[in-house]
Amino acid sequence: YTQSKALVFSKFGEPIDVLHLHRHSISPSLPDGAVLLRTLAAPVNPSDVNTIQGTYGVKPTFSPLLGTPEPAAIPGNEGCFEVVFVGGKVKTFKKGDWVIPSTTGFGTFRTHAVVENADKALFKIGGEKGITGLTPVQVATVSVNPCSAYRMLRDYVDLIKLSIDSFSRGSDVSGGAWFLQNGANSGVGRAAIQLGKLWGLRSINVVRERSTPEETDALKQELKDLGATVVITENEFLDRSFGARLKEEFTRGGKEPVMLGLNCVGGKSASAVVKALGPKGTMVTYGGMSRQSFPFPTGPQIFKRLRFEGFWLSEWSKEFPGEKKKTIDEIVELIREGKFKIAPTQEVKWDWDTEENVLKEAVQGTLEGFRTGKGVFLF
Ligand code: NDP
Repeated sequence: YTQSKALVFSKFGEPIDVLHLHRHSISPSLPDGAVLLRTLAAPVNPSDVNTIQGTYGVKPTFSPLLGTPEPAAIPGNEGCFEVVFVGGKVKTFKKGDWVIPSTTGFGTFRTHAVVENADKALFKIGGEKGITGLTPVQVATVSVNPCSAYRMLRDYVDLIKLSIDSFSRGSDVSGGAWFLQNGANSGVGRAAIQLGKLWGLRSINVVRERSTPEETDALKQELKDLGATVVITENEFLDRSFGARLKEEFTRGGKEPVMLGLNCVGGKSASAVVKALGPKGTMVTYGGMSRQSFPFPTGPQIFKRLRFEGFWLSEWSKEFPGEKKKTIDEIVELIREGKFKIAPTQEVKWDWDTEENVLKEAVQGTLEGFRTGKGVFLF
């Protein structure tokens, strides 16, 4: 028998109140199509906390299978796992492979997992090249944030074609098409900056002011080093003068308009994204970190013929599983080649003796702002 521990919850609420560390044992007789996995790393994303709070777009199923006093669910959507045992009919995996869940809702906050129907439920990492040059934390954080940034930059507005068209009309060679995003220092934001740069795009990136000007400058520089064209604070962005600045400093009097806005934040910041978009521009909303909604203003919708879209990775993955695998494989190769850096992380060691409170607090802290890195359980 393999001894295993998992964070579980049986009712919705704040992570610190409803999460428990549950110990159970895993039988050595696996079904034919199943694999036994050992967890190597699992990040805590904002959506994991929302799922525990019961405010996310999909509710987990509480199941009696783990032998908890009440039916329970395991949170966590992302993780990197090592295959430790393979059932007789499994085709895709062998012992020692690294795998990630193919869809969200897997329940990654646990030391081990038995996965039935493994060929469908898991993606193997690294293809022919295997795992050389990759770390568990890199692999564990690739499927949600970088994948979302990739799809949002490619699937709504053809920015690459716009860049070519504008170049052929005589624009500066360094001038790829613009996109603009708030929450630019988030995991998604940092991924969008890097992918945009690799694809020859220009980005305007909005971040919240830090507690001192030096810290704000350091954050701006950090994002520029990743490939950001322009980094501004939310105060600069919300200021009346921004419209003129956008026109004069960045878009050549509006000749190279911002055609895509990525909205992570909502509220006033989202309204400012709407204002900054050029005619027929598109805003894609994917997060609501400020917990504030925003109006869909009538005038700009009509007179600028704007388009408002929503992106949800979970649904996109179900609709296009093949594309998801391809997107992940491509990003993994970029990481391996040193062309793509994962967002900063704060590692939380999870070994057999780690106390419940340490794990619960790591989950609870996720929605606090101004963090130095995303929490990642490292096993
Ligand atoms: P991170 O944990 O990496 O970053 C959080 C970001 O939110 C930081 O930029 C932080 O800025 C900002 N933030 C936190 N609190 C506030 C606030 N009150 N007002 C404004 N900004 C705030 O996040 P992720 O990249 O993992 O996720 C970002 C968002 O994207 C989340 O809402 C997440 O649910 C969503 N998401 C959605 C997906 C989808 O499919 N729709 C897929 C992936 C992510 P600061 O440093 O200034 O605090």
